[in-house]
Amino acid sequence: MTGEDGRREIQRDILRIMQQLQQEDESQVRSVASVATPLHQQYVQQQQLVRQTVPESDDELLLILTQRQQQEENMDTMPAQQQHHFQQQQQQQQQPVENYIPLTLKEHNKDRCAYLPTFPYLNSCKPNEIPLLLANVSTSILGPNDLTRRYATCYEGPFIPIILSDQMNSYMYDCFKRDFNDLIERLKINPAIIDFNLGRLRRIVERFQLLQMVFSRRFTQWNKNNIPVYAQHDINFPNNLLKLNEIELKIGLEFFLQIDVDLFYMKTCTFLNAWPRSLDEGVFCKSHLPLVRYSFQACEKISCTLCESPSTIIQSDSCRTHRFLNGYYAILNCPVTCQTKNIIYTLTCPCGEYDFIGSTSSHILEVIESIRENGNQYMHETLISANSPFGSHQDTNNFLHNQKEFIRLYQHSARCAKVIQLFLNVNPDYDCFIPMTYEQAMVDDRNKIIELSPVSDFSDLFIQHVPIPPKGYMFSNYQQEKQRKFFEKLHFIKSHDEKLFTPVDFYNFSVIAVLPENCSTLLRQTLECLFATHAETKLNMFNLRTKDTHELYAFPYHRVWCENIIRSSPMTS
Ligand SMILES: [Zn+2]
Ligand SMILES: [Zn+2]
Repeated sequence: MTGEDGRREIQRDILRIMQQLQQEDESQVRSVASVATPLHQQYVQQQQLVRQTVPESDDELLLILTQRQQQEENMDTMPAQQQHHFQQQQQQQQQPVENYIPLTLKEHNKDRCAYLPTFPYLNSCKPNEIPLLLANVSTSILGPNDLTRRYATCYEGPFIPIILSDQMNSYMYDCFKRDFNDLIERLKINPAIIDFNLGRLRRIVERFQLLQMVFSRRFTQWNKNNIPVYAQHDINFPNNLLKLNEIELKIGLEFFLQIDVDLFYMKTCTFLNAWPRSLDEGVFCKSHLPLVRYSFQACEKISCTLCESPSTIIQSDSCRTHRFLNGYYAILNCPVTCQTKNIIYTLTCPCGEYDFIGSTSSHILEVIESIRENGNQYMHETLISANSPFGSHQDTNNFLHNQKEFIRLYQHSARCAKVIQLFLNVNPDYDCFIPMTYEQAMVDDRNKIIELSPVSDFSDLFIQHVPIPPKGYMFSNYQQEKQRKFFEKLHFIKSHDEKLFTPVDFYNFSVIAVLPENCSTLLRQTLECLFATHAETKLNMFNLRTKDTHELYAFPYHRVWCENIIRSSPMTS
């Protein structure tokens, strides 16, 4: 057989697979319509409900559009030489497309592959040849190579065919069947893929725990070893790392297989009122594109403070696909309300340059309140004093211990002009701590006649610690006088344990995934870390690629923090 014949043979095979897939999809529709078992009825009802509430084509269109748009954006920002190379690549792809090209995987972040689900491969496989699972890429977008990998190749293992066909007994196979048969059937996946990815997931769980310990140790040193006694066990390396139990391992695997290279889409989810959109689909997307079916809904309970004060910080019904700043997408796997516990959420700064992923065993309200309280306190302290904002916190050790995962988040908000603006809009008293450009300060001094207050050792001591303005900026005399008055007021209220500011919500919240009730902290945090790794959120403290995100993304801010701030009392010229 010549090379030409071989190619034709492959093309014929691919065509056959595509036709089979199409037939399967069609027969699936027919079977749903004709068979009326309770399971099918429930499925049909669910589907009808979904169709009533979500225009399927709209969401599918949205995903295609955003993918196209991103490619166009990339083209716009590419240097000419690179554009030429890209066009060449595109032409090569058109005749014919060999592989799906991930949107979020580039040269600089290729090491993410180590934490993605894959088809089984040899240890000698080169890093750029790792066969990603691509479970969330629909067959209509996959290239022929991807399709062959998904449907035509037979993966062997971990058991020999005579054991698999029950011609020979095997204790190990019985154990495997007992633990994983339901998953294999529900996910419609080869045991070899389960086996291979269980190994990957186990290594990720171990790596996460080691990184967490390294992080805790680093933090303890930073915190001059002042760690509350109850928390000391966190920083000691145990001899044995924790393991997920069998039930959690299966849940973890189901999540892991669907945290794909560009998109999290857990189409097989069956807990908390979620239901697969198709009983035939399994873990691999068929020809239909991913579909958004669940959203965040207000619980509307009288006692719920979140529903009581309608807040715009939670992305609700209108935006149900979350797009991270690096282009990674997440589609919610379950319906969520303010009362749902065990969630993974994301926070996006209004500046649109930084985001964060967190998780909680509690519900969203508790997270919002905690971040609001600590974030505003941190803002207050950063604006008025150049000393460590932790230093003046009422209970420094506990704050540092309990909030250590959020430090970059608070650091960013206190140095982001967009967030400072939000804070000032509600707390105009603080605008004396926002330096002006030299010209603005001159205008301010010319227009405002100030009455100097008597010299006070107390407030002068505080004024010495006000942060030095960045280059090109200064405080006007009027601002300095206001600062003096501010510190006098602060001294007065300190004894009353009041705050000088009204707290503001800085970040936009979005819930991206829900875990089953009673899931362990280890499973929740490992999944959170996986998301932080693939969404490349710059405000997390570490992710699977690095023990310290500073190494990858540098400081959690990069602009002049006081530029373009609009003051409540505009200067007259
Ligand atoms: Zn509510
Ligand atoms: Zn920001």
